[in-house]
Amino acid sequence: MNHSQTFVYNRYTSSRHVYNTSDYSEQRDSLSVVPKLHSTRKYVSFRVCQTNRNRENMRYISISDDKTLEQLKEEICRQLQLTMEVADFSLTRFDDKDDVWVPINDIDMHNRISNLHLPSYSIMNIEKREETNTDDQHISKIRTSNLTLKLCKQPMDKSKYVILTTDSMITIDQLKEEARKKVMATKTNYLYLWKDDNWIKFDTELDDLTLYDSEFEQYSIISFETEDDPVPGVCGLTNLGNTCFMNSALQCLSNIPEFTRKVLSFGNEMNAPIIGAYAALIKTMWSGDYVVTTPSSLLLNIRDNLPRFPRYKQQDAQEFMNYFLHLIHQEFTDESTLITNLFYGGIQSSVKCLDDCCHSETNEEQISFLPLPIENESNQYNILYLRSNGEQRFISIRTCATTLDKLVSLFIDQYEPNFSLQRIRIVRIVNNKIRKTLPLYVSLNDINIDQLTFIELPEKTVDQRYIQFLFLDRETGEPFRPPIFIVGPQWECRYRDLSQQINQIQNHFCSITDASINVVKHLYWINEYNEIRPLKSEKDTNDTFLFMDYITMEIDYQWIQKYKHLYNFDRSIDNSSLDSLLVEFFREEPINGDYYCSQCHGLRKATQKADLALPLPRVLIIQLKRFTYDTYSDRKIDTYINFPLINLDLSQYIIQNSETKTDIVALYDLVAVSNHTGTLIGGHYITYAKNDGNKRWYSFNDDRIREITDEKDIVTKNAYILVYVKQV
Ligand SMILES: [Zn+2]
Repeated sequence: MNHSQTFVYNRYTSSRHVYNTSDYSEQRDSLSVVPKLHSTRKYVSFRVCQTNRNRENMRYISISDDKTLEQLKEEICRQLQLTMEVADFSLTRFDDKDDVWVPINDIDMHNRISNLHLPSYSIMNIEKREETNTDDQHISKIRTSNLTLKLCKQPMDKSKYVILTTDSMITIDQLKEEARKKVMATKTNYLYLWKDDNWIKFDTELDDLTLYDSEFEQYSIISFETEDDPVPGVCGLTNLGNTCFMNSALQCLSNIPEFTRKVLSFGNEMNAPIIGAYAALIKTMWSGDYVVTTPSSLLLNIRDNLPRFPRYKQQDAQEFMNYFLHLIHQEFTDESTLITNLFYGGIQSSVKCLDDCCHSETNEEQISFLPLPIENESNQYNILYLRSNGEQRFISIRTCATTLDKLVSLFIDQYEPNFSLQRIRIVRIVNNKIRKTLPLYVSLNDINIDQLTFIELPEKTVDQRYIQFLFLDRETGEPFRPPIFIVGPQWECRYRDLSQQINQIQNHFCSITDASINVVKHLYWINEYNEIRPLKSEKDTNDTFLFMDYITMEIDYQWIQKYKHLYNFDRSIDNSSLDSLLVEFFREEPINGDYYCSQCHGLRKATQKADLALPLPRVLIIQLKRFTYDTYSDRKIDTYINFPLINLDLSQYIIQNSETKTDIVALYDLVAVSNHTGTLIGGHYITYAKNDGNKRWYSFNDDRIREITDEKDIVTKNAYILVYVKQV
């Protein structure tokens, strides 16, 4: 690979890579695209779920679009042999763009189908109305209407939800009962509603209110709280006006178990205003009585001492943390060693004469945090590579290439030397769906590259086509990982044409999760009319599938969790891991220019090296130096740095001499990360921290807190301060 080579690609004249546009355009970018129908008759077809919202088992209903909604419902009753009256049910339509069930308004039953603007082949479900209870005759059928809510699978995690369709006339208590069944919650939890960017808690006193009388709307997001009571230590901090840097630093410190235990033991008699205010804050946060508190008293006491950054309004969480510890240290009289014992460690720097005398001079310095420079890797591209057998890999490529095709060529050179350029499809993945296919001639400057995804395309002949293979959650129908492509005949595909490729994918899932083949056998295919059919082996069926476009594999939720948990496809990119930054920091390197050696009395060549001195600090605060300030530009470096959550091993950086014991514990576990999002000027701090009580991770965004259920989400390119504590 030649780094210095610059490559100018002319899309019109280059004959090096023949870019077959038709090959790319034949693939639709998402399931949401509904094919055009060349029908001269004004007939529309819908697919109606025969069992409740089960998209595996649907029936086609075709009807002239000048018919009314009532007639459509009658037709559904007739064809599905329902015993209901048309007034006993309403219809919902599955909107695959938003992945939600949308009610079809049936107040005017004589509305024509053509006026309802329903896309052809819409998936519909029959929503039975609640039977009117004889005790509640006053609730008329007319007031009854369907309400579709999004229920978070995990407390307050809005990204993963199940759809809960209910009746707006039920009470909050009844809703809780329905929701509990849906997510199998057992405790008597509080219900929360997401409204105006806040979680609103429903007190039990409100249980008798109907949803109609409360603030529920279509597609409102609701959630349960896991714990009945606030978790000690899981307490948000109000933003007092540009104070997220302080809140983030305080949450980091609060979650250092040894420090907080010490602070909680302080009495109130102490004649030290900053320590007193901090101890009061920590006591509130760890009382288990509050989910949010205001650090205003502490801020009042330290405001005048805060370091100022004249050029930017944004203050720095690391500088604050360091300075705050310094202020506390100054206030102590009888606990004077607490801060130094916990946070300070020695760095020994030595300079070695390279002349025959080999004399070395050493100097030890106490530091309260380790500042690690990060190389600006703006020319580094992090790529998720999806292989057609199901494997996923993270790959990092550094290049100053300007076009995507050059990047793909480099990738192929390094990882898939037998591939042609046509074997890689470059896509943008959002929520595990392909949102965009990027053409090869695109300039790398024109795309916002947070992460590119390369998908392997298997080799194919002109008689074959690519079939997108999707991995779906059986319950929600949402993809839980990005899709891949397999290859099948252009027409009249049979299972046996695909079985080998499907087996590979099934094996991939089963080998990671230890699942039996039954877990991965729910396969479906979708043709260009969005018709869904079970995909069965030829033992079960002689079906041939015309124009097969998609295959889906539906997996039960618990196996998806297992897959995500166990499949650690390597995120570590060698030149951007914490270890590599530490190696660089402690590396022996030549001194620029000459050094005067006091031993052999002359100007000599020399090397310098830093080492960790003993004892190691109990708390290790690492600053990833993402902000660079120099004469010409002040920048933030966005390089992704991988860091371990447990067992960060510092043993190789400890100074080597005769006193070094071999049984020293040099392993550290992460307890908190302060993340900086945004730019140098307009940014925001959020802390991820592990609660010492329940050992769960939480995201502290000022007064907003959510649990982080997937530990993979803790390592991001926003990590700025890492707080590690030494194992004992
Ligand atoms: Zn010397």
